[in-house]
Amino acid sequence: MVWLFDAHVHLSDPEYVGDMDLIINSMRKMKIKACAVSVDNVSSNNTLDLAQKSDLVLPFVGIHPEKAFDDLESNIGLIRKNSDRICGIGEIGLDKTYASSTEQFARQKMVFTKLLEEAEALKKPVSVHSRRTLDEIFQIIPSYRISGFLLHWFDGSKKQLNTATDLGCFVSYGPATVYSKDKQVLVSNTEKNRLLVETDGPVKFSHCFGMKAAHVSFIPSVVFCIAKIFGQTYDETVSLLEQNSTNYLGI
Ligand SMILES: [Zn+2]
Repeated sequence: MVWLFDAHVHLSDPEYVGDMDLIINSMRKMKIKACAVSVDNVSSNNTLDLAQKSDLVLPFVGIHPEKAFDDLESNIGLIRKNSDRICGIGEIGLDKTYASSTEQFARQKMVFTKLLEEAEALKKPVSVHSRRTLDEIFQIIPSYRISGFLLHWFDGSKKQLNTATDLGCFVSYGPATVYSKDKQVLVSNTEKNRLLVETDGPVKFSHCFGMKAAHVSFIPSVVFCIAKIFGQTYDETVSLLEQNSTNYLGI
């Protein structure tokens, strides 16, 4: 059986509370598994609870750069205690828009690198937020041996895309691929075996998505677009993405 993977979605977000049974049922019907990322200790615990409900929820635990001042020791404790259940570490990363001083950015870097150390030690993939910090992250990557390193919502230049490929990273694209010419150009320049798809739900997307909170069920439209760009059939693209996803997750 072939499965699609949403490589990055915040299923523990309050937006989805109340709809979870519907979401998990639709994932089963549509054959979609989800890398469910977390942003802090509360959402990390909620993500682990969701993973108890369904094996389609692949739990990722971590601290987002926006939440860099959350309790790091607790998060590391949670990761170690649940290391056999956790599928990856994330959402982690760097983002200067959430740091108003050099001290705050230094704190982000410390949290990010400590969680990369955990991922390396436990041989887990990572889901990385890299908004306007790709070059800083490229400097950090070679210090860690992590086989599944995902730059989620990749939004760099073509040169940065080449660097990401040279460093062995995976990159993921979301619903914006359906309507953004710039994204489509990036996809066409991406190594086929390094590409993943995501929704980053519950982020809201414009144009044809009408500012509705993204749902895992948006994934097939992203796949359809990528198939068109690669000049492949939908089924060929699904098989390629499944292979890429299992390589990324190490499963
Ligand atoms: Zn995210």
